[in-house]
Amino acid sequence: AALDDEECDYLFKAVMIGDSAVGKSNLLSRFAREEFRLDSKPTIGVEFACRSLRIGDKLVKAQIWDTAGQERFRAITSSYYRGALGALLVYDVTRRVTFENLPKWIRELRELADPTLVIALVGNKSDLVHMREVGEEEGKSLAEREGLCFMETSALENRNVEEAFLQMITRIREILK
Ligand code: GDP
Ligand code: MG
Repeated sequence: AALDDEECDYLFKAVMIGDSAVGKSNLLSRFAREEFRLDSKPTIGVEFACRSLRIGDKLVKAQIWDTAGQERFRAITSSYYRGALGALLVYDVTRRVTFENLPKWIRELRELADPTLVIALVGNKSDLVHMREVGEEEGKSLAEREGLCFMETSALENRNVEEAFLQMITRIREILK
């Protein structure tokens, strides 16, 4: 059941980021399930979804922001990142260019977000085995070099989606201790 903010031990913001069409919105709606809310903020063109979780003995509510397509024009403003404690940085394992753009996104996150930001790198569309252009090891080694969490997912098959978000949220929770 959804929890009120007052009942939560922690409430925090995280953001979805990465190239257009890598699957950010589908990953978020999988994770947020029936709690997905199109609480649009038309002035800044973002949407967000909330999900409450129990981590250990604490109730954590994650408010996760999604873009409304601004990433296509690389027009994401600093207000999108403001106050975020976590980011799910997504690429598409079937489109190499989305992997090659990751350093730009990492740079932008480090410039505009909080320095303690927890970044979870996510290689999505792992179900499309015959179209793969980026190996799992490549994602893993980039994540290691940059100090990020890493997971390959399939929003389509609902594979590792929960795990990817939980990895990020658990790490944020550790920092908040
Ligand atoms: P966004 O622009 O990053 O928010 O990407 P979307 O969530 O809108 O997804 C872009 C396209 O990729 C859509 O056609 C989705 O159906 C498709 N898609 C998203 N995730 C997956 C996945 O895990 N596997 C496959 N095969 N397609 C996916
Ligand atoms: Mg989207």
